[in-house]
Amino acid sequence: MHSYFRCPCWSVSVLNCDLHCHSTCSDGLLPAAEVARRAAANGVEMLALTDHDDLDGLPAARAAADAVGMAFVNGVEISIEWEALQIHILGLAFNRADPALNAGLAAIRSGRIERARRMSAELEKVGIAGAFEGAMRFAANPSLVSRAHFGRYLVEIGVCKDLRSVFESYLVPGRPGYVDHRWATLSDSLRWILGAGGLAVVAHPGRYKLSRADMRRFLGEFKDLGGQAIEVMSGSHTAEHVDAFGRLAREHDFLASRGSDFHGPGESYVDLGKLAPLPAGLTPVWQAF
Ligand code: AMP
Ligand code: MN
Ligand code: MN
Ligand code: MN
Repeated sequence: MHSYFRCPCWSVSVLNCDLHCHSTCSDGLLPAAEVARRAAANGVEMLALTDHDDLDGLPAARAAADAVGMAFVNGVEISIEWEALQIHILGLAFNRADPALNAGLAAIRSGRIERARRMSAELEKVGIAGAFEGAMRFAANPSLVSRAHFGRYLVEIGVCKDLRSVFESYLVPGRPGYVDHRWATLSDSLRWILGAGGLAVVAHPGRYKLSRADMRRFLGEFKDLGGQAIEVMSGSHTAEHVDAFGRLAREHDFLASRGSDFHGPGESYVDLGKLAPLPAGLTPVWQAF
């Protein structure tokens, strides 16, 4: 659909594509149009905005991308639960108006405010007051209130020095402020993404606490359900993760994706478009758009 795709493969694989980032529509710090303008200024040639469980930022990001001549694809990061783990599945290049995708995302969102109240009650038990209101002040889109907003509140009141230490001591299983929540299933997320004509990508696979055997089993299930790609280059991946998931992509015949997971200046490890290119020998997911 874009002239890019007539390029020979060697140049397609080094395109500066950033296919994972967030705006104030979920837990990012910048409005969607600003995310797109910052990406273009950083040299991104193709951007996907992938807010958590919400598509509302896509029109503004697309308009801003069009205005500066940067290619743009629709994106979303869907929260799912697989064997009691919270996993994120990215949808890319889908039809934004698809009714089943929109209804599915609305259903995931509807539980978040009630979950936030339960998280706040858990934090109260360890002496941290006012967390619900505190988190909500950071949530530009209240229906997408997330652990990141609670984290920002805990930093603001001085309980932790930064978000990284929040997620070491709070808001994760076994620590204060964590509550179980019913997210979508893996098969729901694939049905919605593929039904809307998109491609499904496992987000930051290095972040999940899965043994090698369970990771293989998870990727097998993902593939059997029609999943096409995994993020190999991610802002939250170490060099070891890049090696390991590059190998798994080749072994399972997955397309490979690249995304910073940028949430905001000063908060994210990697800025938009600043990740290293995909390692050689992988097929970029953007070849399939
Ligand atoms: P939720 O969707 O409410 O469960 O919140 C998950 C969000 O919390 C992620 O999208 C990140 O923005 C943030 N988060 C989770 N773990 C970490 C971490 N270890 N460091 C920084 N942010 C994190
Ligand atoms: Mn996030
Ligand atoms: Mn994620
Ligand atoms: Mn993300």
